Amino acid sequence: MILLDGKETAKTIREELKAEVETLAPKHGRAPGLAVILVGEDPASQVYVRNKEKACENVGIVSVPHKLPADTSQEDLEALIEKLNADGSVDGILLQLPLPRGLDSQRCLELIDPGKDVDGFHPISVGKLTLGLPGFRSCTPAGVMNLLERYDIDPSGKKCVIIGRSNIVGKPQALMMLAKNATPVITHSRTKDLARECRDADIIVAALGRPKFLTADMVKEGAVVIDVGINRTDEGLCGDCDFEAVKDKVSAITPVPGGVGPMTIAQLLVNTVQAYREHVGA
Ligand code: NAP
Repeated sequence: MILLDGKETAKTIREELKAEVETLAPKHGRAPGLAVILVGEDPASQVYVRNKEKACENVGIVSVPHKLPADTSQEDLEALIEKLNADGSVDGILLQLPLPRGLDSQRCLELIDPGKDVDGFHPISVGKLTLGLPGFRSCTPAGVMNLLERYDIDPSGKKCVIIGRSNIVGKPQALMMLAKNATPVITHSRTKDLARECRDADIIVAALGRPKFLTADMVKEGAVVIDVGINRTDEGLCGDCDFEAVKDKVSAITPVPGGVGPMTIAQLLVNTVQAYREHVGA
Protein backbone atom coordinates (compact mmCIF):
# COMPACT_ATOMS: atom_id res chain seq x y z
CA MET A 1 0.00 0.00 0.00
CA ILE A 2 1.28 3.45 -0.91
CA LEU A 3 0.48 6.25 1.50
CA LEU A 4 -0.21 9.31 -0.64
CA ASP A 5 1.63 11.86 1.46
CA GLY A 6 0.01 15.23 0.80
CA LYS A 7 2.11 16.95 3.43
CA GLU A 8 5.43 16.00 1.81
CA THR A 9 4.13 16.59 -1.72
CA ALA A 10 2.82 20.03 -0.75
CA LYS A 11 6.24 20.83 0.71
CA THR A 12 7.89 19.91 -2.59
CA ILE A 13 5.40 22.11 -4.48
CA ARG A 14 6.10 25.02 -2.13
CA GLU A 15 9.85 24.63 -2.71
CA GLU A 16 9.30 24.67 -6.49
CA LEU A 17 7.09 27.76 -6.25
CA LYS A 18 9.55 29.52 -3.97
CA ALA A 19 12.31 29.08 -6.56
CA GLU A 20 9.94 30.31 -9.28
CA VAL A 21 8.97 33.41 -7.30
CA GLU A 22 12.61 34.14 -6.43
CA THR A 23 13.41 34.26 -10.14
CA LEU A 24 10.31 36.15 -11.26
CA ALA A 25 9.85 38.80 -8.55
CA PRO A 26 13.08 40.79 -9.13
CA LYS A 27 12.47 40.70 -12.90
CA HIS A 28 8.96 42.10 -12.61
CA GLY A 29 9.49 44.47 -9.74
CA ARG A 30 7.07 42.87 -7.33
CA ALA A 31 6.14 39.59 -5.66
CA PRO A 32 2.78 37.84 -6.23
CA GLY A 33 0.00 39.21 -4.03
CA LEU A 34 -2.96 37.40 -2.49
CA ALA A 35 -5.78 39.25 -0.73
CA VAL A 36 -7.55 37.12 1.86
CA ILE A 37 -10.99 38.22 3.03
CA LEU A 38 -12.29 36.77 6.28
CA VAL A 39 -15.67 37.92 7.56
CA GLY A 40 -16.58 37.05 11.15
CA GLU A 41 -14.90 34.81 13.68
CA ASP A 42 -15.63 31.26 12.60
CA PRO A 43 -12.85 29.29 14.37
CA ALA A 44 -12.30 26.75 11.56
CA SER A 45 -12.09 29.57 8.98
CA GLN A 46 -9.57 31.40 11.15
CA VAL A 47 -7.35 28.29 11.21
CA TYR A 48 -7.66 27.82 7.42
CA VAL A 49 -6.81 31.48 6.78
CA ARG A 50 -3.81 31.34 9.11
CA ASN A 51 -2.51 28.21 7.35
CA LYS A 52 -2.95 29.84 3.95
CA GLU A 53 -1.12 32.99 5.10
CA LYS A 54 1.77 30.91 6.48
CA ALA A 55 2.03 28.95 3.22
CA CYS A 56 2.11 32.20 1.20
CA GLU A 57 4.88 33.60 3.34
CA ASN A 58 6.82 30.41 2.83
CA VAL A 59 7.00 30.82 -0.96
CA GLY A 60 7.32 34.61 -1.13
CA ILE A 61 3.71 35.46 -1.95
CA VAL A 62 2.59 38.64 -0.16
CA SER A 63 -0.68 37.78 1.55
CA VAL A 64 -2.75 40.72 2.72
CA PRO A 65 -5.48 39.85 5.23
CA HIS A 66 -8.77 41.77 5.26
CA LYS A 67 -10.57 40.83 8.44
CA LEU A 68 -14.10 42.19 8.67
CA PRO A 69 -16.59 41.98 11.54
CA ALA A 70 -19.45 39.46 11.34
CA ASP A 71 -22.00 42.29 10.98
CA THR A 72 -20.37 43.65 7.79
CA SER A 73 -22.98 44.66 5.22
CA GLN A 74 -23.23 43.15 1.74
CA GLU A 75 -22.54 46.61 0.35
CA ASP A 76 -19.28 47.03 2.29
CA LEU A 77 -18.08 43.56 1.37
CA GLU A 78 -18.81 44.19 -2.29
CA ALA A 79 -16.99 47.55 -2.09
CA LEU A 80 -13.90 45.79 -0.72
CA ILE A 81 -13.98 43.21 -3.53
CA GLU A 82 -14.27 46.01 -6.14
CA LYS A 83 -11.32 47.78 -4.54
CA LEU A 84 -9.19 44.62 -4.63
CA ASN A 85 -10.25 43.98 -8.25
CA ALA A 86 -8.78 47.38 -9.15
CA ASP A 87 -5.60 46.98 -7.07
CA GLY A 88 -2.63 46.20 -9.35
CA SER A 89 -0.63 44.59 -6.54
CA VAL A 90 -3.32 41.97 -5.94
CA ASP A 91 -3.10 38.89 -8.17
CA GLY A 92 -5.56 36.70 -6.33
CA ILE A 93 -8.62 37.31 -4.17
CA LEU A 94 -9.71 34.67 -1.72
CA LEU A 95 -13.06 34.99 -0.01
CA GLN A 96 -13.08 32.56 2.91
CA LEU A 97 -16.37 30.67 3.08
CA PRO A 98 -18.82 30.24 4.70
CA LEU A 99 -19.86 33.86 5.12
CA PRO A 100 -21.95 34.86 8.14
CA ARG A 101 -25.71 34.58 7.72
CA GLY A 102 -27.26 37.39 5.71
CA LEU A 103 -24.37 37.79 3.27
CA ASP A 104 -24.81 36.54 -0.28
CA SER A 105 -21.69 34.49 -1.03
CA GLN A 106 -22.62 33.64 -4.62
CA ARG A 107 -23.05 37.33 -5.46
CA CYS A 108 -19.66 38.12 -3.90
CA LEU A 109 -17.92 35.25 -5.71
CA GLU A 110 -19.33 36.46 -9.02
CA LEU A 111 -18.02 39.95 -8.32
CA ILE A 112 -14.41 38.79 -8.08
CA ASP A 113 -12.43 39.60 -11.22
CA PRO A 114 -12.21 36.22 -13.03
CA GLY A 115 -8.51 36.97 -13.62
CA LYS A 116 -8.03 36.98 -9.84
CA ASP A 117 -10.29 34.03 -9.07
CA VAL A 118 -7.59 31.83 -7.52
CA ASP A 119 -10.20 29.69 -5.74
CA GLY A 120 -11.73 28.77 -9.11
CA PHE A 121 -15.30 29.35 -7.90
CA HIS A 122 -16.35 32.04 -10.42
CA PRO A 123 -18.84 30.81 -13.05
CA ILE A 124 -16.29 31.75 -15.73
CA SER A 125 -13.68 29.49 -14.13
CA VAL A 126 -16.23 26.69 -13.78
CA GLY A 127 -17.27 27.19 -17.42
CA LYS A 128 -13.67 26.97 -18.57
CA LEU A 129 -13.19 23.76 -16.59
CA THR A 130 -16.34 22.34 -18.19
CA LEU A 131 -15.16 23.28 -21.68
CA GLY A 132 -11.64 21.98 -21.05
CA LEU A 133 -10.12 25.45 -21.45
CA PRO A 134 -7.20 26.70 -19.35
CA GLY A 135 -8.29 28.63 -16.27
CA PHE A 136 -8.30 28.56 -12.50
CA ARG A 137 -9.31 25.24 -11.03
CA SER A 138 -11.00 24.68 -7.68
CA CYS A 139 -8.16 24.02 -5.25
CA THR A 140 -9.26 20.79 -3.54
CA PRO A 141 -10.02 18.68 -6.63
CA ALA A 142 -7.04 20.19 -8.48
CA GLY A 143 -4.87 19.31 -5.48
CA VAL A 144 -6.16 15.73 -5.69
CA MET A 145 -5.23 15.53 -9.39
CA ASN A 146 -1.79 16.97 -8.64
CA LEU A 147 -1.24 14.39 -5.88
CA LEU A 148 -2.20 11.50 -8.18
CA GLU A 149 0.10 12.81 -10.89
CA ARG A 150 3.05 13.11 -8.55
CA TYR A 151 2.56 9.49 -7.52
CA ASP A 152 2.28 8.40 -11.18
CA ILE A 153 -1.31 7.26 -10.76
CA ASP A 154 -2.94 7.75 -14.15
CA PRO A 155 -6.76 7.92 -14.00
CA SER A 156 -7.06 7.16 -17.73
CA GLY A 157 -9.54 4.36 -18.41
CA LYS A 158 -10.31 3.94 -14.71
CA LYS A 159 -13.74 4.07 -13.14
CA CYS A 160 -13.70 6.85 -10.58
CA VAL A 161 -16.53 7.05 -8.06
CA ILE A 162 -16.87 10.42 -6.37
CA ILE A 163 -18.99 10.58 -3.23
CA GLY A 164 -20.45 14.09 -2.95
CA ARG A 165 -21.66 16.57 -5.56
CA SER A 166 -20.72 19.94 -4.09
CA ASN A 167 -19.68 22.79 -6.36
CA ILE A 168 -16.28 23.05 -4.72
CA VAL A 169 -15.29 19.37 -4.60
CA GLY A 170 -17.51 16.66 -6.12
CA LYS A 171 -18.63 18.28 -9.37
CA PRO A 172 -15.29 19.81 -10.41
CA GLN A 173 -13.53 16.58 -9.35
CA ALA A 174 -15.64 14.64 -11.84
CA LEU A 175 -14.79 17.08 -14.64
CA MET A 176 -11.07 16.93 -13.82
CA MET A 177 -11.17 13.13 -13.81
CA LEU A 178 -12.99 13.21 -17.15
CA ALA A 179 -10.31 15.51 -18.56
CA LYS A 180 -7.78 12.82 -17.61
CA ASN A 181 -9.84 10.19 -19.45
CA ALA A 182 -11.27 8.49 -16.37
CA THR A 183 -14.90 7.38 -16.30
CA PRO A 184 -16.32 9.42 -13.43
CA VAL A 185 -19.49 8.56 -11.53
CA ILE A 186 -20.83 11.22 -9.18
CA THR A 187 -22.77 9.84 -6.25
CA HIS A 188 -24.73 11.64 -3.52
CA SER A 189 -27.27 11.16 -0.76
CA ARG A 190 -29.97 9.92 -3.18
CA THR A 191 -27.74 7.40 -4.96
CA LYS A 192 -29.20 3.90 -4.86
CA ASP A 193 -26.76 1.25 -3.67
CA LEU A 194 -23.76 3.49 -3.20
CA ALA A 195 -21.77 0.56 -1.79
CA ARG A 196 -22.12 -1.34 -5.08
CA GLU A 197 -20.95 1.71 -7.07
CA CYS A 198 -17.92 2.02 -4.78
CA ARG A 199 -17.04 -1.69 -4.97
CA ASP A 200 -16.81 -1.32 -8.74
CA ALA A 201 -14.46 1.68 -8.58
CA ASP A 202 -10.76 1.78 -9.39
CA ILE A 203 -10.51 5.19 -7.73
CA ILE A 204 -12.80 6.49 -4.97
CA VAL A 205 -12.87 10.14 -3.94
CA ALA A 206 -14.79 10.45 -0.69
CA ALA A 207 -16.02 14.03 -0.20
CA LEU A 208 -19.22 13.89 1.80
CA GLY A 209 -18.28 14.96 5.31
CA ARG A 210 -19.35 11.83 7.24
CA PRO A 211 -16.70 10.34 9.58
CA LYS A 212 -15.47 6.87 8.54
CA PHE A 213 -18.33 6.48 6.03
CA LEU A 214 -16.28 4.48 3.53
CA THR A 215 -15.78 1.04 5.03
CA ALA A 216 -13.66 -1.92 3.89
CA ASP A 217 -16.62 -3.82 2.41
CA MET A 218 -17.25 -0.88 0.04
CA VAL A 219 -13.77 -0.95 -1.45
CA LYS A 220 -12.40 -3.20 -4.16
CA GLU A 221 -9.06 -4.92 -3.57
CA GLY A 222 -6.29 -2.72 -5.03
CA ALA A 223 -8.40 0.43 -5.43
CA VAL A 224 -7.05 3.94 -4.85
CA VAL A 225 -8.83 5.88 -2.12
CA ILE A 226 -8.70 9.65 -1.83
CA ASP A 227 -10.19 10.95 1.40
CA VAL A 228 -11.24 14.59 1.16
CA GLY A 229 -13.31 14.62 4.35
CA ILE A 230 -12.34 16.65 7.37
CA ASN A 231 -14.48 15.74 10.36
CA ARG A 232 -13.98 16.87 13.91
CA THR A 233 -14.98 14.06 16.27
CA ASP A 234 -14.46 13.34 19.96
CA GLU A 235 -11.45 11.23 18.96
CA GLY A 236 -9.97 14.13 16.97
CA LEU A 237 -9.78 14.85 13.26
CA CYS A 238 -10.90 12.07 10.93
CA GLY A 239 -11.71 11.60 7.27
CA ASP A 240 -14.68 10.14 5.40
CA CYS A 241 -12.89 6.82 5.15
CA ASP A 242 -12.36 4.21 7.85
CA PHE A 243 -8.60 4.38 7.26
CA GLU A 244 -7.51 1.55 9.59
CA ALA A 245 -9.99 -0.91 8.09
CA VAL A 246 -9.45 0.10 4.46
CA LYS A 247 -5.69 0.62 4.31
CA ASP A 248 -4.71 -3.05 3.87
CA LYS A 249 -7.10 -3.57 0.98
CA VAL A 250 -6.10 -0.64 -1.23
CA SER A 251 -3.12 0.04 -3.48
CA ALA A 252 -2.91 3.68 -2.38
CA ILE A 253 -4.68 5.94 0.10
CA THR A 254 -4.47 9.46 1.52
CA PRO A 255 -4.27 9.94 5.29
CA VAL A 256 -6.32 12.50 7.23
CA PRO A 257 -4.72 14.76 8.27
CA GLY A 258 -1.76 15.07 5.91
CA GLY A 259 -3.44 14.09 2.65
CA VAL A 260 -5.75 16.31 0.63
CA GLY A 261 -5.73 19.24 3.10
CA PRO A 262 -2.13 20.37 2.49
CA MET A 263 -2.58 19.79 -1.27
CA THR A 264 -5.55 22.18 -1.29
CA ILE A 265 -3.39 24.95 0.16
CA ALA A 266 -0.53 24.14 -2.21
CA GLN A 267 -2.94 24.44 -5.14
CA LEU A 268 -4.01 27.89 -3.95
CA LEU A 269 -0.36 28.93 -4.15
CA VAL A 270 -0.04 27.39 -7.63
CA ASN A 271 -3.13 29.32 -8.76
CA THR A 272 -1.82 32.57 -7.26
CA VAL A 273 1.51 32.25 -9.06
CA GLN A 274 -0.43 31.42 -12.26
CA ALA A 275 -2.48 34.63 -11.83
CA TYR A 276 0.69 36.61 -11.15
CA ARG A 277 2.35 35.26 -14.30
CA GLU A 278 -0.67 36.33 -16.33
CA HIS A 279 -0.69 39.81 -14.76
CA VAL A 280 3.03 40.52 -15.21
CA GLY A 281 3.23 38.75 -18.56
CA ALA A 282 5.77 36.12 -17.46
P1 NAP B 1 -21.03 19.53 1.15
O1 NAP B 1 -21.18 20.76 0.36
O2 NAP B 1 -21.69 19.37 2.47
O3 NAP B 1 -21.46 18.32 0.22
C1 NAP B 1 -21.54 17.01 0.71
C2 NAP B 1 -21.99 16.10 -0.39
O4 NAP B 1 -22.00 14.77 0.13
C3 NAP B 1 -23.41 16.38 -0.90
O5 NAP B 1 -23.42 16.30 -2.31
C4 NAP B 1 -24.25 15.28 -0.28
O6 NAP B 1 -25.30 14.80 -1.10
C5 NAP B 1 -23.24 14.16 -0.15
N1 NAP B 1 -23.61 13.28 0.95
C6 NAP B 1 -23.87 13.61 2.24
N2 NAP B 1 -24.20 12.51 2.94
C7 NAP B 1 -24.15 11.47 2.09
C8 NAP B 1 -24.39 10.09 2.22
N3 NAP B 1 -24.75 9.54 3.38
N4 NAP B 1 -24.26 9.32 1.11
C9 NAP B 1 -23.90 9.85 -0.06
N5 NAP B 1 -23.65 11.16 -0.25
C10 NAP B 1 -23.78 11.95 0.82
O7 NAP B 1 -19.49 19.21 1.45
P2 NAP B 1 -18.12 19.68 0.73
O8 NAP B 1 -17.92 21.11 0.94
O9 NAP B 1 -18.03 19.11 -0.64
O10 NAP B 1 -17.10 18.90 1.66
C11 NAP B 1 -17.12 17.52 1.85
C12 NAP B 1 -16.10 17.11 2.90
O11 NAP B 1 -14.81 17.49 2.45
C13 NAP B 1 -16.26 17.82 4.26
O12 NAP B 1 -15.83 16.93 5.27
C14 NAP B 1 -15.32 18.99 4.17
O13 NAP B 1 -14.87 19.40 5.44
C15 NAP B 1 -14.20 18.38 3.38
N6 NAP B 1 -13.40 19.33 2.61
C16 NAP B 1 -12.07 19.19 2.72
C17 NAP B 1 -11.23 20.03 2.00
C18 NAP B 1 -9.77 19.82 2.11
O14 NAP B 1 -9.01 20.73 1.83
N7 NAP B 1 -9.31 18.64 2.50
C19 NAP B 1 -11.76 21.03 1.20
C20 NAP B 1 -13.15 21.12 1.08
C21 NAP B 1 -13.96 20.25 1.79
P3 NAP B 1 -26.58 15.71 -1.51
O15 NAP B 1 -26.08 16.68 -2.53
O16 NAP B 1 -27.53 14.73 -2.07
O17 NAP B 1 -27.03 16.37 -0.24
